[in-house]
Amino acid sequence: MTTSKIDNVEIRQLTEDILLVHQKKPPFYFSCSDGIIILPKKNRNDSSIVLDLNIEPHLIDKLNNIYGPFTNYINSHGHMDHIAHVHKWESIGAKIHAPFPEHVNLLDLRKFYKLFGFFEEINFSVINKFAKKNGYKECQDVIPFKPGYTFKFENLIIETIPLLGHSKAHVGFLIPEERLFHISCLGFDKVSPDKDGFGPWYGFKECSIEQYLIDITQAELIFLERANFLTSSHSYIVKSPDKAPFIYMREKIAKNQNLVDNAIKSHNLTNKSMDTINYLLNLDIFFPKRKMEGYLLEIYNFWESGIIRKHIERSEYLN
Ligand SMILES: [Zn+2]
Repeated sequence: MTTSKIDNVEIRQLTEDILLVHQKKPPFYFSCSDGIIILPKKNRNDSSIVLDLNIEPHLIDKLNNIYGPFTNYINSHGHMDHIAHVHKWESIGAKIHAPFPEHVNLLDLRKFYKLFGFFEEINFSVINKFAKKNGYKECQDVIPFKPGYTFKFENLIIETIPLLGHSKAHVGFLIPEERLFHISCLGFDKVSPDKDGFGPWYGFKECSIEQYLIDITQAELIFLERANFLTSSHSYIVKSPDKAPFIYMREKIAKNQNLVDNAIKSHNLTNKSMDTINYLLNLDIFFPKRKMEGYLLEIYNFWESGIIRKHIERSEYLN
């Protein structure tokens, strides 16, 4: 069931008192992620809890009028589309929880700049511009938790599931009693069954394709054994036992490997050097960078060279 009490916001009802919330038109590419609102329920939780719902501040105000007060907010990881607007949840009274070590990204943009290795190749002013575009503001206070930690708010249990291929702190959320599994940013980004997406994203140095494949298998097991619904930061709702998300994610990684392998072969590249990475980067295999300029081009170059490096390392065609 879908209700729409707020302009530009889609609210999908997962159970009687759990909602998947989606901002339809984000102001910029990396400024929003879908998230979950867990409403109060007798003998479970007295106040509303939010999971990783990063949407524009004026929309958070509107949600607060309808579903507030919100007492706790749990963030899934420290990427921009998951941290930009969290300050707003704090200002309306929610305690902010975020996974270690990326919780610092919510407190200080320079930490975001350092932690993901931007500082090695990009000027801080580029990241500052990127953050401003996405509406990023810092939080005052964030409570760190270890990926894998189980939250208990009265009788509401929320397990955090480490899915660390995407980032070193990235977690999904399992609510066992409600049989709901939110896989956050793992890489199922199809907004409907007939639409395509980018798939798993591993553009930072700390990301790992090997870990990704383990995470996908683990998430699949959890979904099939312990959940009825699967939701994520950028997708439609999937019902058990539909394995589509896991097939999609594995296929995307294999397809990316093929793209890089084919380019290596057809351009007769022979080694894993920076020259090879730069050569492949200029082919625009993954992102249409020819149309980009300025700070955005710098950021995309950084990300895509990260993705290419991962596939070069796995390629059978290079020494
Ligand atoms: Zn992410």
